[in-house]
Amino acid sequence: MTRALRAARPVALAASRCTSTVTPIRSLCLLQQRLATTRTKPVSSPAALSRQFGTTAARAQTQDTETATEEEEEPDVLPSPKELATLDQTPQDPNKRFKYRFRTSAGVVSWDRSYLRFRYAKELWDDHFTLSTLWLRDACECPRCVDRHSGQKTFSTTDLPDVPTIKHAMIRYDKALELTFANDKPSGGGDHTVLYSAKTLAEWRAVGSRWHRFAFTLRKPDIIPWDRASYEALLADGRCRVSYNDWINNEPAFFDALRDLSQTGLIFVTDVPQDEKSVEQIATRIGPLMHTFYGWTWDVRSKPQAENVAYTNVFLGLHQDLMYHDPIPGLQLLHCLANDCSGGESLFSHGLRAAYELKLTHQKDFDNLCRHKTWFGYRRNGHHHFARHSTIVAGFSQHPTEVCWAPPFQTTFPLAVDHRQTDNLRRWRDAAQKFQQIAESELNTFELKLKPGECVIFDNRRVLHGRREFDAGNTGSRWLKGAYVAKAVYHAAQTRMIEYMQEMGMALPPTKGSGERAQKFVEEALAARKAAAKKGGGG
Ligand SMILES: [Zn+2]
Repeated sequence: MTRALRAARPVALAASRCTSTVTPIRSLCLLQQRLATTRTKPVSSPAALSRQFGTTAARAQTQDTETATEEEEEPDVLPSPKELATLDQTPQDPNKRFKYRFRTSAGVVSWDRSYLRFRYAKELWDDHFTLSTLWLRDACECPRCVDRHSGQKTFSTTDLPDVPTIKHAMIRYDKALELTFANDKPSGGGDHTVLYSAKTLAEWRAVGSRWHRFAFTLRKPDIIPWDRASYEALLADGRCRVSYNDWINNEPAFFDALRDLSQTGLIFVTDVPQDEKSVEQIATRIGPLMHTFYGWTWDVRSKPQAENVAYTNVFLGLHQDLMYHDPIPGLQLLHCLANDCSGGESLFSHGLRAAYELKLTHQKDFDNLCRHKTWFGYRRNGHHHFARHSTIVAGFSQHPTEVCWAPPFQTTFPLAVDHRQTDNLRRWRDAAQKFQQIAESELNTFELKLKPGECVIFDNRRVLHGRREFDAGNTGSRWLKGAYVAKAVYHAAQTRMIEYMQEMGMALPPTKGSGERAQKFVEEALAARKAAAKKGGGG
């Protein structure tokens, strides 16, 4: 009932809540159809970008009209002292607990000691939307309550009384809510006037009681748990690839690529200057570099007596980096400076794809890999790191959110001396083998040979990478320059991306059901593979 009422609320943002911004993951076919119509090359105009992000024309139009009306409307005069005297003490609405009421031509506010509610002119009361006066006072962001320079709060919530007294409240002509609190301690005991903009009020009402600071910004686009075919299809559609110049200088194109990264965990920056500093330039577009004992940036090239297997020329199976490091790097960048040797192709496989496939085909093994932890370690040159992780990290709803797969960086298991411990180890080995087979399957592995001037960025918490053996002898050289970005920094960039979408009036990603959509994507892909195999076998 509450939900139905909220959905019907005539606020533009409320409507946008239910619209999916991101490509709905149904089937690759649908995905491609939609991509074909909505996506071309990154473009700089906001309108074109909003098309790319899937904003409907209707939504964009609504916003335009709203802004226009707001601008054109003649401001009402603020209420005169006479109007103040008409404070209605006998509210006519059925809910009589609100003792005080104040009406302007823009709307009505009702309140008592503990709660307040409001409606705009010609709107009905929403019985489900009332706000605590304590919460409202605490939420003030005026220059007195929030430092203009640091953006940090200047008072403590504990400075406020249990029940702050509202002396006066009204809806202003610009649809903002203005409250005056009496005996306000943070203001030295005097009156304190608080103003909430129409935009802020619209956000609160759109989300209702589930509103919190990140109700709008902590939304990530749906992940695409790709396999080789679907990733190649995305590339063919012009996705997951951005030029260095666009990444650095073109804001819409940058956010567009960041969305591709959020969805697929793997993108390529092209036309990168042949410069050892380039990888840092690319990384810092997202945020500060992550420093590890390998340095701010590091070189991947074959060298004798290498301190890491990556610095050799042997085949390097699919894995993730620095599993023994706390925290595990969020993003990894590899800028190719030279690659003219034979071999040395890069391999990528989506770890969550493998996790979903395992979940759909061997639920028990999936559970095992979620439950049991393995140890990872590194102990060389004074750097002693140990950490333990589940192979599959599943969220509250049992959907995989991250994987931790790095056979070369595993260290000794806890001692197995009895049947129970040995059985546990065997069960883990068995489940891990199935996970590995899925991840390494040719159908799931995307392979390419990086060319000089290309930089790959991938989500090190989700996407596995590896490389084929190469001949560093007489045939040429291979040199990649690498860097890491911490997950928190990546996360902050994603928040920036969502805020950007919001500013541009694009519909935001839905907050719920992303795990189910990802699982459905894998389920349908598996069914399609099965059908194709059957057809192939019959013919
Ligand atoms: Zn304030």
